[in-house]
Amino acid sequence: MSEDASGAVEAPMNFELPEELRMLKETVRKFVDKELIPVERQARQGHRLKPEIEAQFRTKAKALGLENYDVPQAYGGLGLGLLARAVVWAELGRSIALPPRAGHIFGPNVSPILYHLNEAQKEKYLLPTIRGELNWCFAQTEPDAGGDPGSMRTTAVRRGDTYVINGNKRFITEASTADFAQVIAATDRAKGSHGGISAFIVDMKSPGVKLLRAQELVIDDRPWELAFEDVVVPVENRIGEEGEGFKHAQDWLNIGRVRHGARGIGVIERCLELGASYAKQRVTFGEPLAQRQAVQWMLVDSFISLNQLRFMVHDAAVKYDQGRDIRVEAYQAKIFGDTQSFIAADHCMEIHGGMGLATDLPIEKFWRDQRSMMITEGPIENLKMALARHVLRTYG
Ligand SMILES: Cc1cc2nc3c(=O)[nH]c(=O)nc-3n(C[C@H](O)[C@H](O)[C@H](O)COP(=O)(O)OP(=O)(O)OC[C@H]3O[C@@H](n4cnc5c(N)ncnc54)[C@H](O)[C@@H]3O)c2cc1C
Repeated sequence: MSEDASGAVEAPMNFELPEELRMLKETVRKFVDKELIPVERQARQGHRLKPEIEAQFRTKAKALGLENYDVPQAYGGLGLGLLARAVVWAELGRSIALPPRAGHIFGPNVSPILYHLNEAQKEKYLLPTIRGELNWCFAQTEPDAGGDPGSMRTTAVRRGDTYVINGNKRFITEASTADFAQVIAATDRAKGSHGGISAFIVDMKSPGVKLLRAQELVIDDRPWELAFEDVVVPVENRIGEEGEGFKHAQDWLNIGRVRHGARGIGVIERCLELGASYAKQRVTFGEPLAQRQAVQWMLVDSFISLNQLRFMVHDAAVKYDQGRDIRVEAYQAKIFGDTQSFIAADHCMEIHGGMGLATDLPIEKFWRDQRSMMITEGPIENLKMALARHVLRTYG
């Protein structure tokens, strides 16, 4: 910190994005405005992109020079830091064109867990995934164990050089197209999530892996219910040591939570754009909606949330890029981001009246998708329970 002649302190803090990230943001924003938003209502077929639209998006995305922006340089990607990735996610969040759980147009969808595999496993699963040759799914949730994996019933029992997996999984995204699953199972149920849970890579063509049914939801996603019946998995397919199923989870969970927050930035911003424009043009009782305090306050509340969320997400991402522990920041980014973006979509819907519910506009999809975000990858209440430990420890 330095002082000028008048004695005023010049603070070294700077909340602006650095120049190269401002340029990245501008580039992705233009792409979203020009390529995604104009076709966003026709882009999806169910929970996936229509093949011809996906091809078109991929070609345009390639031209931006952002291919594999989230893959580390050691594996041939751009290896952008988390702050840069958050900037990209926020901009993409402004459009409903890309399905939230299956909209990978800058390269294949690479599970962050795969970067924690051993070298032989990386060769067999990570590298082909990066090359786009293999698809994966992540199978943790069960009919009787969702946000509480310690009560998991799926077991993996060691038999010589193999494990035998038995149990049912529910809500598994893209299970029907996956070549392999990352399966979380109990190796010692008595220990629960403290050393009793292990992770495995399971070939989806293994005898005993059964796709039971796709679950219909209020959102477009159709996650699968699966059964594992005496599925034999070689020991070399265990991820990490036995009982360490969650050893590396913190890293990718943190990234996922920041991603939720970043997406929320984009959703709130677009809902503000839609809500403010409509409020100015729609006249009721002789005056534009924009003149009504009730409407102004909804927009102002969303605007304040947008700025708070941006600080939260950038703070978490900068600290992650500095190698710091961001558990507390990541919880906040997901809790606040998912909740406030849903509220912003709800305000936007309210301002539009009946048109807010119309499928001509993107609002209803933001509204449904953001509601689902509050439940998946950790319901808000579960995250608050975890964050409460920090709050009580710090302030109690
Ligand atoms: C579209 C979609 C895609 C999904 N994809 C996958 C996937 O690919 N792989 C996978 O493994 N799972 C997936 N899931 C599952 C998802 O992660 C779970 O639904 C989520 O973790 C919640 O689990 P649950 O539904 O069993 O709810 P439960 O754990 O039964 O909880 C129900 C509700 O109770 C409340 N609650 C729970 N515990 C507490 C607590 N301690 N304190 C206060 N309140 C609490 C919360 O509000 C919670 O929403 C997906 C789900 C959906 C909807």
